[in-house]
Amino acid sequence: MDRLLLLIPTTSYRVSDFLEAAHRLNVEVTVGSDQRQVLEKYSQGRTVTLNFRNLERGTKQIVDFAHRYPLRAIIATDEETTMLAAKASKALGLPHNSPASVEAATNKYRFRVALAEAGLPSPQFTLVSLDESPAEAARRVAYPCVLKPLALSASRGVIRADDAAAFVANFHRIAKILRARDIESTAEVGQHLLVETYIPGTEVALEGLLIRGRLNVLALFDKPDPLEGPFFEETIYVTPSRLPKAVQCMITAATAEAVDALGLLEGPIHAELRVSEDGPVMIELAARSIGGLCSRVLRFGAGIRLEDLILQHALGLPIESLEREDRPAGVMMIPIPRAGRLQQVRGIQRARNVPGVEDVAITIPLGQEVIPLPEGNKYLGFIFARKETPEAVEATLREAHNRLQFVIEP
Ligand code: ADP
Ligand code: CA
Repeated sequence: MDRLLLLIPTTSYRVSDFLEAAHRLNVEVTVGSDQRQVLEKYSQGRTVTLNFRNLERGTKQIVDFAHRYPLRAIIATDEETTMLAAKASKALGLPHNSPASVEAATNKYRFRVALAEAGLPSPQFTLVSLDESPAEAARRVAYPCVLKPLALSASRGVIRADDAAAFVANFHRIAKILRARDIESTAEVGQHLLVETYIPGTEVALEGLLIRGRLNVLALFDKPDPLEGPFFEETIYVTPSRLPKAVQCMITAATAEAVDALGLLEGPIHAELRVSEDGPVMIELAARSIGGLCSRVLRFGAGIRLEDLILQHALGLPIESLEREDRPAGVMMIPIPRAGRLQQVRGIQRARNVPGVEDVAITIPLGQEVIPLPEGNKYLGFIFARKETPEAVEATLREAHNRLQFVIEP
């Protein structure tokens, strides 16, 4: 029987969605995770503990595991594990993206270099070392600009600066986030910031599946809330996009060019672009699917889920349909409004009762500490909606969010 290895960080929300997909496809699945699983000894290949921080060690652990339990595919569910999946797949001779292409999709500086070398539209960018004097670095960039870590996600540590004073303050704020990170990282990633010129324009997210290098667009999402900084909080995603068809085609073309520039060939991608006056500009291209619980908003053909498509593709199984269902759909990632301890969530049932709301999932347990952007990287939860039009989906998500009340105490 086909065995699949899912690389899932213990902090991930996604384990059940992927396990259910594996179950529907009737494949054997092993969960590889970064914390020792209590029942590992007894689970006969169903779980394995892997070192996610050290790629060489992690790869060796997977290769050893595959000697006992042969693997057909390795799937990274989150940003954190895409490099390990690529390296281990290579070591085992499984179809995969090259580690170099995944590296360029994971490291924001490498990404900008790859795009610039391919001559694709890009902001001006420069790498700033944490050892540099921020006041001096502030003099060699154009404003407004965006400062960001090279390898975090969920907009963590991404901050806009309109002048040198803001640059210096942001520099210190991001340096603190990087120093506090308990994850082992390369010198480049842990010791630098990327600074890019700020690109004005509306933002979209493109969910795609690469098959033998060809980009299949699974969904294009509008992000109707303005994202102008200083922090860039993700909130509402609605699909289909309300942008003119011609602009949507340009977005797809720009994404396909970026995919080629990086050399990505197989599997899910999640791209973010800004539609500037001169056309679409890539902000990010990740070699993974959409994060959090957001994938639940997507359905294909007769109720197929995104995780089904990802597994079918990875195992070389026939894919029934890559067409998203017709009905407009949306998700809201509920931002953390302030720091403190989450004491209570009121109005969940009232929010669920808004017509068109499919689910309201609160993903932070009561009593837990919550940290807003730019230091935090979590959401309070997710609201899902389906309606006749994208406008109605957006209004439904806003109404449901209004009905929720989060009691956060310092
Ligand atoms: P992350 O991987 O943490 O999501 P991104 O590079 O995608 O980091 O940046 C997060 C958000 O910040 C983007 O979705 C976008 O809204 C904003 N942003 C990042 N870079 C720029 C830029 N050069 N110009 C304008 N906005 C930007
Ligand atoms: Ca992003």
